[in-house]
Amino acid sequence: MQKTFKQTDKNYSYETELLRKGAYVNANVDNPEALPIYLTTAFNVEDLDDLMNRYAEKAFCYNRNRNPNRNALIELMSYMEHGEDSICCSSGMAAISTAIISNLKAGDHVLSDRTLYGETIEIFTDILSEYGVETTFVDFTDLDQIRAAIRPETRMFYTETVSNPMITVPDIEAIADIAHKSGAIFIVDNTFVTSVGFRPLDHGADIVVNSLTKFANGHSDAVCGAATGSAELIKKMYHTQLLLGSQSDPFSSWLVQRGMRTMQLRVEKQMYNAAHLAAALDKSPFVKHVNHPSLSTHPQHDIAMREFGSGERICGMISIVLDDDLGKMNEFMHRLNLAHYAMTLGGYRTTLSHPVSSSHYDTPEEERLKMGITDGLLRISVGIENTQELIDDFMQALEVYR
Ligand code: PLP
Repeated sequence: MQKTFKQTDKNYSYETELLRKGAYVNANVDNPEALPIYLTTAFNVEDLDDLMNRYAEKAFCYNRNRNPNRNALIELMSYMEHGEDSICCSSGMAAISTAIISNLKAGDHVLSDRTLYGETIEIFTDILSEYGVETTFVDFTDLDQIRAAIRPETRMFYTETVSNPMITVPDIEAIADIAHKSGAIFIVDNTFVTSVGFRPLDHGADIVVNSLTKFANGHSDAVCGAATGSAELIKKMYHTQLLLGSQSDPFSSWLVQRGMRTMQLRVEKQMYNAAHLAAALDKSPFVKHVNHPSLSTHPQHDIAMREFGSGERICGMISIVLDDDLGKMNEFMHRLNLAHYAMTLGGYRTTLSHPVSSSHYDTPEEERLKMGITDGLLRISVGIENTQELIDDFMQALEVYR
């Protein structure tokens, strides 16, 4: 039975009763079938002994410290990513920045992959650089480049399981080995693949970060993120999160844990659809290039097959290179009936985005061209539509290039 506070038979005035009536549920509310949303900034504490007990038991007092919905999501994420503990944050970027900031100090050096989500790159170039942390960007698919860039003060390696938007696949185990031999920790962003496809912690990563806004929630209705790792690393990140206030709110935490209940079914279908759509696009004379690791022509096809086991289980993201003609690209987008433009990814419907005008809008042209991000690059987040209908939709729209 839920404990209620300050019960009294005394009747107060209307203005006081307006604050008291209905403040607590006075019947058994244990074990509801669906987890309720605890939309409260604080929990009432009986007295100072109760407060001390709550501190000791990591129970609920104040929302920035702990909330039942965030705790539920933490439990789910830690299980799914095979970590000891997690922090759940207000966005993927909040998880990424909290994880990074917690593990660096002035004078440290970071080695980062050069094709990453654009705003992650900006954490290194625009924020950490102001606090005395230098970052070197190299191609993480080339282990020799990584080894050559290590310095005595290198403290962190950073990459994505499958990179945004070039869909490259670094060898996580080999990089983890290099990182650990040089005394650095290794952070991997698993947003594109999710724990359904791969668990970086099982392959040597120290921290895995996820934008839960994407495939994990899958319904395009909540912004949220998580960092998962050992209890020791998470303790440090929890302290930073508490001070920065980067925690996920109860409603988003609740939405994401609800979305994640069907994650395996959705993500497996998205991966399957992506492999089949990539194969069909690869045969089209109007598509200059298709980036998806299921294709035998993909430069890291062998690594992907080793890491993910099957081309149909890699990730629901594809990027394609079309003509650099933006007018034609607009016509192509208009002709698509199922896929539509949205500045997000990982939802149950197929969406498109144009990295040059979104995720890499602020990346200098010279830098983005080095990564292969041209005007004709289009990123496709594959949904759970009927596979053949999705392929047919792309094929009829590509006719604008005839
Ligand atoms: N990581 C990757 C790979 C992403 O693609 C994104 C956003 O698209 C993020 C992190 C940031 O996530 P959020 O928008 O939830 O902050």
